[in-house]
Amino acid sequence: AGMGSEYLEVRGLSVTFDGFKAVQDVDLTLLQGDLRFLIGPNGAGKTTVIDAITGLVPATGKVNKSGTQLLGRKTHQIARSGVGRTFQTASVFEELTVLQNLDIAAGAGRSPWTMLRRRPGVEPRIAEVLDTIGLASLAEVRAGILAHGQKQWLEIGMLLVGNADVLLLDEPVAGMSKEEREQTGQLLRRIGAERTVVVVEHDMDFMRQFATSVTVLARGRVIAEGSVAEVQADPRVQEVYLGT
Ligand code: ADP
Repeated sequence: AGMGSEYLEVRGLSVTFDGFKAVQDVDLTLLQGDLRFLIGPNGAGKTTVIDAITGLVPATGKVNKSGTQLLGRKTHQIARSGVGRTFQTASVFEELTVLQNLDIAAGAGRSPWTMLRRRPGVEPRIAEVLDTIGLASLAEVRAGILAHGQKQWLEIGMLLVGNADVLLLDEPVAGMSKEEREQTGQLLRRIGAERTVVVVEHDMDFMRQFATSVTVLARGRVIAEGSVAEVQADPRVQEVYLGT
């Protein structure tokens, strides 16, 4: 796919919990190279949008990836189609090494037979991801002893070895130091160049520094979309942020 091609198209996405409309008629078009920040006050529906796209909550509307309709499919089918996500708390296998974590993630879509026939040693694809996430020198270290930021990067690496080209990240820099945030931003820039990355985030400084585009949600609806400068200048956005 060339630059600017569509990676994910969301149309009329709605989620209702017991009659409460958490997400209403949301449209999102994500292109290759997008580092899209999804912002909005608490309870705006940001996480629910990601949950709906990844099949964790029932939703109506359309989620199209390369001609395939994802809505209504099971979470593992959606993951296999290249849509990966992280949660607010990193979920890595703490007792296993960094490399073993990546091996498992790489094997998730493979048959046991393929796994058995694998040659020993680090596969080139996994070595490349280790470099990308900056953990090459820590490959043999138990994931449990990694710093908070490093665990988040490992989790992103697990999506990459699983061939995700749409990455949905829920508050990836929460709890990170300033330096870790900077490194995470650079990492997202690198991986976002040939994929599409959606970041749910509260850290506005981080957003200003790294977003290529921003979608603002309030009460389940998209109220603004555009560049950082455009959404910051939007009176509707100022209104919802002043109200919190
Ligand atoms: P955000 O991520 O923007 O803070 P959420 O997507 O977590 O917002 O939540 C949007 C709204 O939906 C909130 O009012 C929240 O209480 C409600 N909500 C989220 N998940 C559920 C659920 N499983 N059941 C009922 N209500 C929920």
